[in-house]
Amino acid sequence: MKKRTKILATIGPASDSLQMITQLIYAGVNLFRLNFSHGSYEYHTQVLKNIREASQNTGLVVGVLQDISGPKIRIGELEKNFELKKNDTITFVAENIIGRQLDAHNYEVSINYPQILSKLHVGDYIYLYDGIIRTKVLTPQGHPSCKDSTVSVLVENSGTLSSKKGINFPNTRLGVEVLTQKDMDDMHWGVENGVDFMAISFVQNEQDMLQAREIIKDLGGDQMLLAKIEKFDAVENIDAILQASDGIMVARGDLGIEVPYYEVPSIQKMLIQKANAASKPIITATQMLLSMTHSPRASRAEISDIANAVLDGTDAVMLSEESAVGEYPILAVQTMFETIAQTEKLYPYYRFDFTQEDDVTSAIDKSAVRLSKELHVSGILTLTNSGSSAKKIAKYRPSMPIYAITHDERVRAKLTLTWGVIPLFSVTKGSLGQSLNKVIEKGLESRVIDLKKTYILTAGDPTGVSGSINMIRLLREQEMLFFQSINQKSNV
Ligand code: PGA
Ligand code: MN
Repeated sequence: MKKRTKILATIGPASDSLQMITQLIYAGVNLFRLNFSHGSYEYHTQVLKNIREASQNTGLVVGVLQDISGPKIRIGELEKNFELKKNDTITFVAENIIGRQLDAHNYEVSINYPQILSKLHVGDYIYLYDGIIRTKVLTPQGHPSCKDSTVSVLVENSGTLSSKKGINFPNTRLGVEVLTQKDMDDMHWGVENGVDFMAISFVQNEQDMLQAREIIKDLGGDQMLLAKIEKFDAVENIDAILQASDGIMVARGDLGIEVPYYEVPSIQKMLIQKANAASKPIITATQMLLSMTHSPRASRAEISDIANAVLDGTDAVMLSEESAVGEYPILAVQTMFETIAQTEKLYPYYRFDFTQEDDVTSAIDKSAVRLSKELHVSGILTLTNSGSSAKKIAKYRPSMPIYAITHDERVRAKLTLTWGVIPLFSVTKGSLGQSLNKVIEKGLESRVIDLKKTYILTAGDPTGVSGSINMIRLLREQEMLFFQSINQKSNV
């Protein structure tokens, strides 16, 4: 059984060993997420080492995505868990205090980002603990009835609140820098350790992405930069954000609090459509198999959710706590794999948009996909320098595998996120003839290609120049035998 949609699994205590990571790769994981909301540098360094070793041992290309936590606003420590009831009040204070119960119905807590308090208005909603407890602002800062820099809120539904829980302010523009000092230190770690992707949390506009890009550049990095779409503002500014990013994530966990929950599916579809049109990879994330954190079997609704994300056209689906802290990480990946493979039997392959003006690379890649369909070839091979040609071929969603061959190991890992692309070996730089000689030799040796089958190849000649795709070539037995016979010293 094969699948085209990629699986991204978050690593955590339930899955961080070499043995677990190896099993997850065999079960179908294409790339791993290191969640920098948790864990020390020592921890992530060890996990990364295990991922690289597992990739080496299995001989499979695996990508690494570093999730930069961003300004996740949290309450401070509490003296004990608060059993909140409807109509209780909580007062947020700017000072760093241990949260306490003042009397039967009133509580006082601190917040790690007190600047936000001055931006609140009476009637704004504030959500605590991943949206489970909703509260409404009674008195904003500066209101005559309250002390300076405090805000009181009315609890609308009961629930237990414990230390350090997240807070969401859906009505409020944060107006905060998206990258904290911790984020910048984490990005430094990411560049030093050569992660393939960095995902930026709580992005509000393209400026946030440009700033992140600048930081990575200054650190000497070349990571693919993904914007996590989990703020109302990000949805509003999606076109500019997408343009400034190398890909995006539908971060449904926070997004479902920041916008009305019933809008999440339509936003997901809109985001996938836009990312597909831009040939940029998109991840659908959070609660995909949440019940499998503690149960060996998924709910019907979760299976449908995965199937729908696949049919929407997502490049990848993601596991969060299911694989990080759950009881059944391998089973969760297998469940995803089976659901994807079954759903792809009715996948709407071949998406051509004839109304769209194409650049040369897109036009050639689109033609290559059309030709592949007409000739029923067994695979599309692309000699891709930056990976962009492979991504463009993927955009047209061919039903046969897309084999990407590069000169650059780093480009290979960055293609693990793109729908349908199988990053193959890399070949040393040389003339087109020399490169093809290597492709045929290695392809036959690793049994990826078969002399009795037909393939389509796209490449640029001369090789090694980004955006230089200028040819489509049929590879049948006679062409493959010809390229196989080329003398490596010649310069065909
Ligand atoms: P998180 O991001 O898991 O880092 O919060 C994903 C989401 O919000 O859905
Ligand atoms: Mn989030």
